[in-house]
Amino acid sequence: MRVFVVNSGSSSIKYQLVDAESENVVLSGLLERIGQPGGDAVDHVDGMRVVLERLGDHAASIVAVGHRVVHGGSAFTAPTVIDDEVEAAIEQISTLAPLHNPANLAGIRAARLAMPDVPHVAVFDTAFHQSMPAAASTYAIDRAVALDHGIRRYGFHGTSHEFVARRAARLLDRSLESLKLIVLHLGNGSSAAAIDAGRSIDTSMGLTPLQGLVMGTRSGDIDPGALLHLLRAGLSIAEVDALLNSRSGLLGLTGSGDMRDVEAAVEAGDADAALALEVWAHRIRHYVGAYLAQLGGLDALVFTAGIGENSPELRARALDGLAHLGLGVDADRNAVRSRDARVISSEGAPVSVLVVPTNEELAIAQAASALVG
Ligand code: ADP
Repeated sequence: MRVFVVNSGSSSIKYQLVDAESENVVLSGLLERIGQPGGDAVDHVDGMRVVLERLGDHAASIVAVGHRVVHGGSAFTAPTVIDDEVEAAIEQISTLAPLHNPANLAGIRAARLAMPDVPHVAVFDTAFHQSMPAAASTYAIDRAVALDHGIRRYGFHGTSHEFVARRAARLLDRSLESLKLIVLHLGNGSSAAAIDAGRSIDTSMGLTPLQGLVMGTRSGDIDPGALLHLLRAGLSIAEVDALLNSRSGLLGLTGSGDMRDVEAAVEAGDADAALALEVWAHRIRHYVGAYLAQLGGLDALVFTAGIGENSPELRARALDGLAHLGLGVDADRNAVRSRDARVISSEGAPVSVLVVPTNEELAIAQAASALVG
């Protein structure tokens, strides 16, 4: 079952040909600067033509195409085979994700034109979190305004949270249905999720991927009153948007959005970087505590994505002071560098702490193959 996985951005197309059963990546690549002078293609349709050329004889082995779609709104609760109606629905949801959904859609349209004879499947970042109870997804604002504008918590990184939760259950040799989990997806974009019996019951991102944890360039949680204050002070909507999405988080606090730079700056004695790490860890513990309460217990806490998979220091720091909750890492186990899923808490610890590498492309391939196979 070979699935062609497409992650289409406004000026890029990332692709992988994945064998969903053996989990082998047959081929992968990237088109960049689409539509720009000297770029790899003039538009997404041209881009897919280039991709098909690169695929050569492999194209004949594709049984389905899996598309990453950022926002599925309230309409999509699971991976969905794409037809014209689904395309139209994704377009409608673009008001909620103006940067992402139109770009995802351009890739879908181009790929359906280029590969009309195989099923195309949309896999939504939001879908996994549609299981959240209303108590977790509802913002306390005027009901009519919220309904009119689709204002609620949707959550993102769902494909990753679900994939990692499954792998965690496998590693623990337990059924997913028997587990209460907290997953910390800590990359450039970061989010936490509380997962009970395989269902997301709360997550830190909200209407957009701006809410929650401190990220590379995004602020995460901030009093919405601060936005109003800045707008009244004369900043434009575009300036506030750029401030919160592109110039905040680690970048805003330290001058670099890359965690490796921040760690190096802390080592060199930089006080701003030291504070940034404290804010980063404080926010993570805020959510871990909240989700412990929401879950009413915890079997395992899972670290994933760039920071979660690669930094023993930051994993230890995130859980610093939580030993009274049964949460902590074993220094030797935590120090092991590996590409494999592993336990990093001590033998017999009340709560297992795991590192589970995420793989969104494989998750999309498996979701698509499960749906069409
Ligand atoms: P994306 O959200 O773009 O997929 P990743 O999951 O690749 O991001 O995570 C990128 C982040 O992971 C960056 O902040 C990077 O600095 C951080 N990272 C990667 N390797 C390490 C490491 N060894 N130590 C600390 N941070 C790391």
